[in-house]
Amino acid sequence: VIILAGATAVLGEVYGDLLRAAGATERLMELLETRSSVTSPSNPVVAPVLRSGSAIKFDAVNFHYPSRPLQAALTDFSLDVAPGETVAIVGPSGAGKSTVFQLLLRFYDPASGRIDIDGVATRALTLEDLRGRIGIVPQDAVIFSTSALENIRYGKPGASDEETKAAAQAAFAHDFIMTLPEGYDTFLGERGVRLSGGQRQRIAIARAMLKNSPLLLLDEATSALDAESERMVQAALESAMKGRTTLVIAHRLATVQQADRIIVLDHGKLVEQGTHDQLVAANGVYARLAALQFMD
Ligand code: ATP
Repeated sequence: VIILAGATAVLGEVYGDLLRAAGATERLMELLETRSSVTSPSNPVVAPVLRSGSAIKFDAVNFHYPSRPLQAALTDFSLDVAPGETVAIVGPSGAGKSTVFQLLLRFYDPASGRIDIDGVATRALTLEDLRGRIGIVPQDAVIFSTSALENIRYGKPGASDEETKAAAQAAFAHDFIMTLPEGYDTFLGERGVRLSGGQRQRIAIARAMLKNSPLLLLDEATSALDAESERMVQAALESAMKGRTTLVIAHRLATVQQADRIIVLDHGKLVEQGTHDQLVAANGVYARLAALQFMD
């Protein structure tokens, strides 16, 4: 019995690992499935790239993840974003904010409704063309085990050193890179110099600026930065958003206050939209969320 109990305990642990592995596999399978269900069209349309930023339109989009057919992730979601506009997306956890990004990038196709970029259905563009138009600044940027310069060049493989450094300047990353032991040649990542959260974010912004896409998707970090980093990241983001259409999953008061428009998602539905002041005055979902989240 004792041996058995011991065995069960070990089994429990192994089983836990197995479950985790199975979970990972399920997600992987789903991703692979996604890959195969989302295909580039055989006769793709080449839409013009607008200098003023992309126009985006979600029209009555309904979507659920393949693994959860009964749970709507977005319901009758419509959104018109003008070229150059900055729209902040806010809402409680699980409201569907990241799903908006995933659909725009076409990691999935909606069950119904359509998504246009510059007047063309995203399904009519090649995946390469579509994703080439979109710059992404994730919550936590991946830093590769290579030099600072190469880390930024990932934004546009083949970019010249000058171009890459100009993007670093524009993203307020140049000055901190120059303080590193070997400047732009400094090795970063696991076995190199570790960067602070704010520095990693500015590397991500520099990559996006180098890519120079008309559309920017920002997933603002939730973790607090020190005041100095905060200011630099904010300045970098402002420079990145100039002349681009920006959708930002916002967690900071400064960001929502500067946005042209805020949309509020709740349980996959767009429930409110307006400016910060308008939405606070409306005293609805946003006002409650702002009181909890943006208490700066
Ligand atoms: P958070 O602020 O926590 O990141 P969010 O507003 O970005 O949340 P989404 O990630 O868009 O929310 O999730 C919307 C709904 O879809 C949630 O119910 C979530 O559990 C579900 N969901 C998200 N990703 C997947 C996935 N890959 N497979 C299945 N369900 C998912």
